[in-house]
Amino acid sequence: MERMIIFLPLLVIFTGYNFGIGISRMITVISLLLAIFFYPSYLYLISVITSLGLTIFFLEAFYKQLLLIRRTYNEKLNKLVNELGSVKKDSETARMELVKNEKTIKNILHIYEISKDISSHVNFENMFNLITQSLHSQFIIKDVTMKIFDNNRIFKKGTPINIDENIKTQKVADGAIQIPMLISEKSIGIISARIPPQYEKDNEFFDAMAAFVEELKIAIQRAILYSRVEMLSRTDGLTGLYRRGYFNERLKEEEFRARRWRGKFSILMMDIDHFKKVNDTYGHQAGDTVLKTVAEILKNSIYETDFAARYGGEEFVTIFPQTDPAGLVIKAEKIRKAIEEAEITVGLEKLRVTSSFGIAHYPKDGDTGDEVLRKADMSLYKSKQTGRNKITEFNKKSDATD
Ligand code: GH3
Ligand code: MG
Ligand code: MG
Repeated sequence: MERMIIFLPLLVIFTGYNFGIGISRMITVISLLLAIFFYPSYLYLISVITSLGLTIFFLEAFYKQLLLIRRTYNEKLNKLVNELGSVKKDSETARMELVKNEKTIKNILHIYEISKDISSHVNFENMFNLITQSLHSQFIIKDVTMKIFDNNRIFKKGTPINIDENIKTQKVADGAIQIPMLISEKSIGIISARIPPQYEKDNEFFDAMAAFVEELKIAIQRAILYSRVEMLSRTDGLTGLYRRGYFNERLKEEEFRARRWRGKFSILMMDIDHFKKVNDTYGHQAGDTVLKTVAEILKNSIYETDFAARYGGEEFVTIFPQTDPAGLVIKAEKIRKAIEEAEITVGLEKLRVTSSFGIAHYPKDGDTGDEVLRKADMSLYKSKQTGRNKITEFNKKSDATD
């Protein structure tokens, strides 16, 4: 029976072996072997040694368990610290993203507001003023140049920037940004701005500028269409010259300017001779061709700063600002000759016409635009009366009977 008791701790030891406990197992096995050898006098000693071995075994197991727990705990703690670090990083990125988004939203709102303002205008000068104000307040931009291809108009604020008309995408060169306004891949104009140094490498600035122009181009296109319609209503469909109504407005402006700056201007009136006969002989269509040809000769003979209009059926009037009277008579003579020499083809026919002219000057011949116009008309009448195909300059002395 006692022998059986000895084997009981042995069983426990072998179970401990499965947990990898070495020293206690060795001690216990040796002591058990000794005990069995010296049985029965050492029975007491054996149970003491066995208990000791078991204690060591359990202590070792406990210690190993502690180490394991510590290692697991450390690993978990490290993982937690790492996770905490990445959460912190994520939250920082999210915060930055939020700040960036806030800025973008603010920019977009500003762009929307300003483009709404700009859209309420159809006049390019007013629009350009708002554009420059907006670019200045948003980005401290001082130099802006805008080119509208329709009518080739250029608007400048500050130092002018050389516009590259062929660009189809945003271009950055020589410290300036140029952005084309594309409508269905066709460029209607270009906006160019000098880049302030603090934005030179700021992609957000370039994006905001692109968004700004994107909003703007619709308003600009509207203004272009409006100016075309306005132009059409101002100009005569047959000859392309301005209509009488617009001429009267311009005459008032010219008078105002000349009075303010003590300037001068001259008026040339022109009427095709015996035009009724052309219509009667060759038909109205032939008459129209003659009118077009004469208008073309007149347009090609004057400067861009001069202003020519179709005043009546076959009557034309031109304002020449700041012109020397003697020079104007020479110019009128050239026009007269060009009309006289023009061979106008109408169907199978080739015809020629002549015109009569009347000239008067501000302030020499009148102190209002209307007065000078009346004097020019009187002079034209005189040309008609004295043989046609000629130029008459108003003469105060001889024509004072008016
Ligand atoms: P004068 O040398 O005295 O100026 O003689 P005229 O025949 O040119 O003068 P009048 O004013 O009597 O005739 C002008 C004619 O111009 C009458 C009209 O039929 C014609 N006319 C006016 N407008 C047009 C137009 O748009 N097309 C055509 N074909 N004829 C027009
Ligand atoms: Mg006539
Ligand atoms: Mg007439």
